[in-house]
Amino acid sequence: MAHWTDRRADRGGKIVAGNWKLQPPRGEGVELFRAILAGLGDAPVGAGGPGAWVIPPAPYLGLFGGELSLGAPLGLGAQDLSPCGYGAHTGELGGELLADFGCALVLVGHSERRQGGESDPEVAEKALAADRAGLLPLLCVGESEVERDQGDTIAVVERQLAAVLATLAPERPLWVAYEPVWAIGTGRTATSEQVVEVHQAIRKSLARGGRDGAGTPILYGGSVNPSNAGALLAEEEIDGALVGGASLKAESFLAIVEAGATVSD
Ligand code: PEP
Repeated sequence: MAHWTDRRADRGGKIVAGNWKLQPPRGEGVELFRAILAGLGDAPVGAGGPGAWVIPPAPYLGLFGGELSLGAPLGLGAQDLSPCGYGAHTGELGGELLADFGCALVLVGHSERRQGGESDPEVAEKALAADRAGLLPLLCVGESEVERDQGDTIAVVERQLAAVLATLAPERPLWVAYEPVWAIGTGRTATSEQVVEVHQAIRKSLARGGRDGAGTPILYGGSVNPSNAGALLAEEEIDGALVGGASLKAESFLAIVEAGATVSD
């Protein structure tokens, strides 16, 4: 059974999840995973499950799932899922199969998939499929630069959130990652003030949707690195980081995990 919680209060510290996207090649990926696992050592795992997560390309999942013991300080996530269950669906990768291979979490609605044409209703359908399979959906929301410049940030995030809230029952677990599109992979990080403002709006939306807004973990993603992680994660409103580029080196990923642990002490 998945060892995670959707409750913010049940967690000892901050959550740091590394989205590897479509990289690195096999040898490097295996080395990276093992270096991260070794670096975490016997980091405590509270009732809330692991604080560190890797989200590698799908072919790694079976391999890594087999290397993680129950109660390991590292959780395994997938980058996407198909809404299909088991069956005659050539080329699809369903949630039940991901769960079977050791995944406990799955990203839904990452901006790189939305840019590829994934719509709000499709994201909502995937969140529901994830939940049905026993996976924790980590819903990514965030505005483009044009939308921010037009003053539409909150409206965009609320729209993306609303589709999922209308589909997934309020008592079902959900994590959210606020990832402004203009900050992803650009080296431009949102300021703590910008992130806090959006996280507060997300909490209000969650509460309007009948959820525990204050208790839902909300991560920030967008060019998080070891130099800016401490200041971001020190904010009470920011429950963790979704990290892309800086998660591809064990040293920088572990430094961000450490930054999260330090501010939680
Ligand atoms: C991401 O892709 O989710 C992400 C946050 O990437 P980066 O850290 O590279 O901006």
